[in-house]
Amino acid sequence: MAVNENRPVLQFAPFQSAVDEGFWQKLSSLKLDTLGIDQSPISITGFYAPCSHAQVSNHLTLLAESLPSDPSEQLSSPVLSRGNRNRCPVPGILYNTNTLESFHAIDKQSLLKAESKKIWEDIRSGKAEEDSALLSRFLLISFADLKKWSFHYWFAFPALVLDPPATLVDLRPASQWFSVEEAESLSAACNEWRNSSSTADVPFFLVSIASNSRATIRHLRDWEVCQGDGQKVRPKSLFAFFEKFILFLFGLYDPCHLPNNPGWPLRNFLALICSRWNIEKVRFLCYRENRGFADLGLSLVGEALISVPQGRAAENGVCLGWRDPQFVPNAVGWELNRGKKVSRCITLAQSMDPTRLATTAADLNLKLMRWRALPSLNLSILSSVKCLLIGAGTLGCQVARMLMAWGVRKITLLDSGRVSMSNPLRQSLYTFDDCLNGGDLKAKAAVESLKRIFPTVEAEGVVMAIPMPGHPVPTQEEDSVLEDCKRLEDLIASHDAVFLLTDTRESRWLPTLLCANTNKIAITTALGFDSFVVMRHGAGPLGFTGDIKDEAESALSAAMGDLSQTDRDGGRRLGCYFCNDVVAPIDSTANRTLDQQCTVTRPGLAPIASALAVELLVGILHHPDGILAAGEFASDSESSEQPLGILPHQIRGSLSQFSQMTLVGHSSNSCTACCSTVVSEYRKRGMDFVLQAINHPTYLEDLTGLTELMKSASSFKLDWDYETDDDDNVVEI
Ligand SMILES: [Zn+2]
Repeated sequence: MAVNENRPVLQFAPFQSAVDEGFWQKLSSLKLDTLGIDQSPISITGFYAPCSHAQVSNHLTLLAESLPSDPSEQLSSPVLSRGNRNRCPVPGILYNTNTLESFHAIDKQSLLKAESKKIWEDIRSGKAEEDSALLSRFLLISFADLKKWSFHYWFAFPALVLDPPATLVDLRPASQWFSVEEAESLSAACNEWRNSSSTADVPFFLVSIASNSRATIRHLRDWEVCQGDGQKVRPKSLFAFFEKFILFLFGLYDPCHLPNNPGWPLRNFLALICSRWNIEKVRFLCYRENRGFADLGLSLVGEALISVPQGRAAENGVCLGWRDPQFVPNAVGWELNRGKKVSRCITLAQSMDPTRLATTAADLNLKLMRWRALPSLNLSILSSVKCLLIGAGTLGCQVARMLMAWGVRKITLLDSGRVSMSNPLRQSLYTFDDCLNGGDLKAKAAVESLKRIFPTVEAEGVVMAIPMPGHPVPTQEEDSVLEDCKRLEDLIASHDAVFLLTDTRESRWLPTLLCANTNKIAITTALGFDSFVVMRHGAGPLGFTGDIKDEAESALSAAMGDLSQTDRDGGRRLGCYFCNDVVAPIDSTANRTLDQQCTVTRPGLAPIASALAVELLVGILHHPDGILAAGEFASDSESSEQPLGILPHQIRGSLSQFSQMTLVGHSSNSCTACCSTVVSEYRKRGMDFVLQAINHPTYLEDLTGLTELMKSASSFKLDWDYETDDDDNVVEI
């Protein structure tokens, strides 16, 4: 049929997009956690519904559930519950680029062509009649700027172009088209279609109204049935025949509200009607609603003339028509942004809760590490590991900050001191204000500072002193010291890793023993004037007995315990901070001048050593053998198979030489803190044992045989290291 030049061309109201914030949030986490730099297209699902308001069109909406949970299952669309009347699914495809440049460089025309080809193929194969949701597809290209929380994006709703275009014969509100009886029956049929879970989200359908005014709605696949008993007759003539007796319409959910334009989905529907059923005069029903019910005043009925397009796509002058199997119609559909052909951009940073924003941003750098540098980085173990920092001074402050940088979120700081005027310059969590009025308690001030840096950190401060050997306890204070011991025992039991960061040797003894008893990760950092040692203690000598009441609290510790029992005999245990000593810890501050009592160190030393201590913890947490991992050397090229590199036992460094070395020291059978004699005795006698060790300077040496050892050694006049200790500033190493 020739196009009548006097008839207006049928014009369609474009689809409009709407994206829920949840979609961008889920895309962001998908990008960070799963996709990384992978730019493969992702199958997504958009939703729309018939227009439900006289002044507002419905949008094609993307929600969080539009994205698949597992994008590796590229072939399957997101799992969705069908049958939601307000969410007719539209299959879509997302191209999310890694850079803004590649976003702008996307070849939009060829993407649109590829997508419209899918629609065309589904029409030709009959798939679109089986599942009419396939008639509408959409494309989304995007670039997610995860640092600024801004998203650049552009939608396309591919529509096959009829050439020549459809012309409009008539377009009216449906209520003016039908008789009262027909309108009533049609409304009832539509409402039933919309309320049945099997058809509620089927957006294209066939409407027939019999001569008795009774309306029937059917699926597109029932086209033949509509023609009468499914007889195989040429549809065109049959349709003409039936038209005399019944009113026949092609119905669609119309998202558009405009009184003079049908919505976008009609375009591909017309292409189907024209190419599959060969119909030239199409009567359509743009179904719209009000308050959830059919509204025939808002709905439109139109009559349009279409002719089978001949196509103009010939390369060599030969005119190809729609019947040519190679032919794919042209398509249009990139969404305009305020009338212009430009992409859209949305920034969510301001609308997000700053705390939440901080949390997301904090993980950003860590998650980015997983994209290329460290794919096996285990962020969940880092965020769940509970760290106890004994000492909140120069080392404690620095270790806490480094832990947060690595994504550790559960930090307990233990200290009995107050912030003094000399502290803030070196102790990075404190400021001048913390020193006023006698100084805040370090444990409390440090926690507040951590929360100021990162509000969602789970930080706790514990104000208590560590009971120490060589610092005898007067009888009247025994109870409170024993209480402290018990409290420390509970604290260590309820944490996974313990950092020993105090400034005296003897204050590390009890925590070392308690960690050896429960197989907790223990990391010691100690400073001299210009040298440092950082070491991880080996597993305990007796395995984990599981008699600690907080055992269940910490799955990680339990796992470490299991590991220890099964694999412990495999190799020699690594030593602890006391294993190389031949004297039990004593009061190291007695008879010392001020520069000897305080740790006088080069200021750069503590940050270096603290950072190494935290890196060591991260290494242990990522090592398959955990606390039992053998000590590795810097030269161990064979053993550095772990993604984080080698896992040393001890790192000793010197600033005077700007040098650093890795060492391995095995556990000593006469260690005053971790040997089996000491741990067994502690298990047997508990606090009595601890009290005796604290009050009697030689008890530990007697118990472990050190006294005997020294006696025999002195008879050989050997030059023991400890003899020089008193004259050496480097007391802690
Ligand atoms: Zn030891």
